[in-house]
Amino acid sequence: MNQENHLMNMILRSSKPNIFGTKITTINTRLVANQNISTDDVTKINNLHKLRNCYLSLMEVNDDKDDLRYLSGIITQIDFKLQTLWKFKEDSLYHRFWELPKCECPKMDNRDVYGTGHRYINPNCKLHGD
Ligand SMILES: [Zn+2]
Repeated sequence: MNQENHLMNMILRSSKPNIFGTKITTINTRLVANQNISTDDVTKINNLHKLRNCYLSLMEVNDDKDDLRYLSGIITQIDFKLQTLWKFKEDSLYHRFWELPKCECPKMDNRDVYGTGHRYINPNCKLHGD
């Protein structure tokens, strides 16, 4: 099954209406200036955020563990791409994985150790658990 069909099936199986594109991302203009990001790359960053929001919406309306892990894998790839566009090193230590929909890992603990390489994983988390 190709990727488009897989995504379409997930949309069809979802129980709630989809709300694609309703979340507005405001890009950090100071960071754009500090990192000397080109207009082209700002457009790419904005588009990637829209795409990322689509995948987040899909996660919100799905409860299947395999689907959720598949979608979070795509979001990880988008996050790597965003780091590159922001001229940061591709580094999963700086992905805030506990903010993904359906993640049940402890949020405050993970916020406290953000960037250190420590992770607090709830074994029952559909995304990151066993
Ligand atoms: Zn988790």
